[in-house]
Amino acid sequence: MIKFTAGIATALAILGSAASAEAQSAVDKLYVLNCGEGVAGDISRWSPGVNVGKSMEFADNCYLIHHAQGWLLWDTGLADAIAAMPDGERPSDPRATHWRRPQTLASQLDQLGIKPSDIKYVAVSHSHPDHIGNVELFPQATLLIQKAEYEWPGPNNTSRFNPAHPVSKLEGDHDVFGDGGVMLISTPGHTPGHQSLLVKLPKTGALVLSGDAAHFKENWDNRLVPSINFDKEKTAASMERLADVLTKEKAQLWINHDKAQRDRLKLAPEYYD
Ligand SMILES: [Zn+2]
Repeated sequence: MIKFTAGIATALAILGSAASAEAQSAVDKLYVLNCGEGVAGDISRWSPGVNVGKSMEFADNCYLIHHAQGWLLWDTGLADAIAAMPDGERPSDPRATHWRRPQTLASQLDQLGIKPSDIKYVAVSHSHPDHIGNVELFPQATLLIQKAEYEWPGPNNTSRFNPAHPVSKLEGDHDVFGDGGVMLISTPGHTPGHQSLLVKLPKTGALVLSGDAAHFKENWDNRLVPSINFDKEKTAASMERLADVLTKEKAQLWINHDKAQRDRLKLAPEYYD
């Protein structure tokens, strides 16, 4: 009888710990990395008819996420080579963004004691140069990207990615580690296969990392679609989709290029848990 009771107690304890492990995702750390800073020459390029001729500072973030099954890097920012250019990278169109890279991605990983070979997955929101600049710093990491983005022909019909890079071409939402802790959300519009990332942290709670589904808060609040976007209707639908995800998951929206928002975030080596 005593033995039986102990058996039940053990079984209940195991059930209890399994239930609590399930309630908390296995994501335990998120670092915000500085992957670029810039000045947009004319922000009406992103919000047609609004703020014409007004310039605005942009941030460019990468996010390094630790899950019990490994590290995932979300976006890789501007190419590290730009850090060595004294005047940064000037755009050919003066209305676009003049980018600088105050710190390399490689040096920020090094400061955290993380080697590029430690990164299991590199997931990118889309294939613009301010997001994929350092994908080849991680030649062994599996690239997680929407098939529609991967197959979108680049300038002169070239491939946007190194065909030798290991890749998982996704068609729609994807649960990266299988426990709901890190979810890629398909948000096409800015580009054909744009995606955003939902991350569930134990203390901070749920976050949606926008990619370029919106570029800054004013555009998000007013659902403005940049004239440079690939598909206006899909962009609008994707913003509505993200709004639904935010409500359902009680999530915060972190907008990648919003400098004012980034100025309020903790940057690496501090982290969110
Ligand atoms: Zn961008």
